[in-house]
Amino acid sequence: MSLRLQQPQLRNVDHGRTSTIEAGSGPAFERGIARIADPAVSLMGRSGHRARRLIDSDDPGFADPFLLMAEDWMPRGAFAVHPHRGIETVTFVIDGTVEHYDDVGHRGVVRSGDAQWMTAGRGVLHEENALPGTMAHVLQLWVNLPATMKMTAPRYQDLLGDEMPTYGQDGVEVKVFSGEFDNVSAKTLNHVPILMLEVRLRPEAAVKLSLPSTDNGFVFVIRGSVNVGADAVAVTLGQLAWLTRSDKKGVSQLSLRSGEGSCRLLLFSGPPLREPVVFGGPFVMNTEEGIKQAFRDFEKPRFERVGKPAGNHTAD
Ligand code: FE
Repeated sequence: MSLRLQQPQLRNVDHGRTSTIEAGSGPAFERGIARIADPAVSLMGRSGHRARRLIDSDDPGFADPFLLMAEDWMPRGAFAVHPHRGIETVTFVIDGTVEHYDDVGHRGVVRSGDAQWMTAGRGVLHEENALPGTMAHVLQLWVNLPATMKMTAPRYQDLLGDEMPTYGQDGVEVKVFSGEFDNVSAKTLNHVPILMLEVRLRPEAAVKLSLPSTDNGFVFVIRGSVNVGADAVAVTLGQLAWLTRSDKKGVSQLSLRSGEGSCRLLLFSGPPLREPVVFGGPFVMNTEEGIKQAFRDFEKPRFERVGKPAGNHTAD
């Protein structure tokens, strides 16, 4: 997906505009909430497509290694065929069904509760679509690739919710889409070690997670309300809450607790890349020249753009 939307309205919580706080002297720094985004939904033309940008490109250093996250309520045809380079897209279907195909030959269908993890790498031309006559409610996160992996081979993983390894205990269900939680690990292949969890809490349930203290992360609430961190800040349906983080390497803890109702949320975290970020429409590279090259390459026929398969060293 590729669209421009208004900037998210950011509401700062306790620690102001910075997410970085000192780790303190304890063995594990307790995560809190740095800021909450809950932007307005915009109507995208006359097709009934509505969308909002939960993470935008205004502060890539803050979001690093994440770039963008859009929430779409989309009919078929909301997005035309379009390219990507230099990123991975993680699409989570909240409701409905999304079909996908690309010019590398990948095809897939993801339904409510499923995710699709696409590595654009050096380039794909693709289309993502709701089924005819239906709307799909979808989150799409763009994860940055490090400079060394910007031109890696495209890769595509369907992560079906029913097949993801799951931790379940004491009113807590944690579905591991990427990374590991409490010795439950996903087989999902990563270029950047991203933790992606879907967490469901029954009423009055709680869970603690350990995260590298320097990793950047956020939670997005799909249902109900969750109390986050030592200060138990309430994060409610539709809000995206960035977690505080530390500059000091170590372990951090994140506490999630439900109230009188149940809740469902997604949690993402990953190590910042700390590299220059240059946005150019559907491409994200490290330099302006990299963006110009991407636009030049995508005007070429497919063979020239994608190149020969890896390992083909014949002189023909
Ligand atoms: Fe796309």
